[in-house]
Amino acid sequence: MTRLAICKQAIATNTKFFTKRSFSSSGLEANSSKYYDIVIAGGGMIGCSLACTLGANQKLSNKRILLLESSKNKQYIPSEKYSNRVVSINPGNKKLLDNIGAWKHIESNKYATVKRLQVMDAISDTSITFGEETSSKDISYIVENDLLIHAVKTEMEQAKNVEVQYNQRIKSYNLPKESGEMAKICLEDGSEYTCDLLVGCDGQNSQVRKAMGVNYLNWKYDNVGIVATLKFNEEIDNCIAWQRLLPTGPIALLPLTSNMSSLVWSTTIAHSQQLMKLSDEQFVQAVNEGLWKVYERYGIVDQLVKSFDSFLRAANIPADVCRRYPPKIQSLEEGSRASFPLGFGHATNYISKGVALVGDAAHRVHPLAGQGVNLGFGDVQCLNKVLGEAHYVGCSLGNVFCLKDYESERQKYNVKMMIAVEGLYRLYRTDSTPVVIVRSLGLQATDVLFPIKNMIIEEAST
Ligand SMILES: Cc1cc2nc3c(=O)[nH]c(=O)nc-3n(C[C@H](O)[C@H](O)[C@H](O)COP(=O)(O)OP(=O)(O)OC[C@H]3O[C@@H](n4cnc5c(N)ncnc54)[C@H](O)[C@@H]3O)c2cc1C
Repeated sequence: MTRLAICKQAIATNTKFFTKRSFSSSGLEANSSKYYDIVIAGGGMIGCSLACTLGANQKLSNKRILLLESSKNKQYIPSEKYSNRVVSINPGNKKLLDNIGAWKHIESNKYATVKRLQVMDAISDTSITFGEETSSKDISYIVENDLLIHAVKTEMEQAKNVEVQYNQRIKSYNLPKESGEMAKICLEDGSEYTCDLLVGCDGQNSQVRKAMGVNYLNWKYDNVGIVATLKFNEEIDNCIAWQRLLPTGPIALLPLTSNMSSLVWSTTIAHSQQLMKLSDEQFVQAVNEGLWKVYERYGIVDQLVKSFDSFLRAANIPADVCRRYPPKIQSLEEGSRASFPLGFGHATNYISKGVALVGDAAHRVHPLAGQGVNLGFGDVQCLNKVLGEAHYVGCSLGNVFCLKDYESERQKYNVKMMIAVEGLYRLYRTDSTPVVIVRSLGLQATDVLFPIKNMIIEEAST
């Protein structure tokens, strides 16, 4: 029995679980202009998507929602030029954007479809390919961060019960200590708001998380992410996402147009400093080296990979997937090179009385598997479902008993995914021979086991 079912039953029998606030939407405080049912702190990709999704939820149509964002309301100006900040959105989350009406604004502007993902180990001859020959499904969609926010905001503005305030930095929070108390939000300009549910979508340095006082497991990687917009010298059928696992970290190309891709290169701090100092021409040369350079090989690894390949062929399990090679980079979009520190973080609790954390405020992963914002979208879908059901059965939106369903469901999924990404990162950051042998043979075996590959892609697509 889920907590909501228990809650429903308890409400029917009038037990202590019935925690609907006596002063919710129809009560005294609800009439005050400073009271909202839900306040969302932070209007990045996740905060905006949550506001839009809750605004479109019929079950919550009588709830007042306020989104507070510290930066100004940036206008998206359509242009052929691509921003250097893009994300890879999986098909499950494209569906969410479609359901809230945001995808059509992305579709009418620009995005790229990834039909195939090819991951290559730089120090052995092994690789793994997802998509195309093995499955007709799209792998993911590459969208500019700014366009995604613009698309969601365009729909959010249609929602009658959602109010957005930009240029509003939150200074402090006073969170409920007892069930039934409200969260108080104090802004830098001196104004104050109260709400039944405060949702922290305020990113990796979340102030909401700090105010909750939850444990936060985190560390910085000795890796920095360099992004840039790259151009080829010819038009190609650019629907492949490439990733080469170098000993210093992965280098990846995400398709944008027939002659442009977006670079996400995670490398050591020292190497990133060198890369950022290079001229554009030297940087392009370094990217081509990252994609093509032949690293020192391990004789034993090559021998074992060859023997394993012969064994697979003898057992009649040849890989039907033909290996392709990444395009040669010709030039760099001027001014598109930028670097970002990378880290890991996970809050041991996503909820407390009257508060929930969503997106990077709750979890932060290495971008090597393009999962960061996708995990956040998963949180949005789950919290939307849990709040709709909670309201339907008469629970207060901040009821920790109902919110617990959100925490359990999301932690189960997010922790599994974060461990997988972290494992992959660590597996490829070592050049110890036994590890290189195990990962090379593992990659080789997985590449020919289509049901396993399909399972992996299904799991990452939800
Ligand atoms: C190089 C790189 C590449 C990436 N590639 C991918 C990818 O391909 N796929 C993917 O899924 N993920 C990717 N990610 C991760 C993704 O960018 C993040 O997961 C995502 O941006 C998190 O969104 P968010 O809305 O939770 O947080 P944020 O984007 O950090 O937004 C937080 C918002 O809160 C606001 N805010 C903060 N404090 C306050 C305050 N006190 N008052 C008011 N407002 C406040 C901020 O202004 C901001 O707008 C990548 C990350 C990096 C660094």
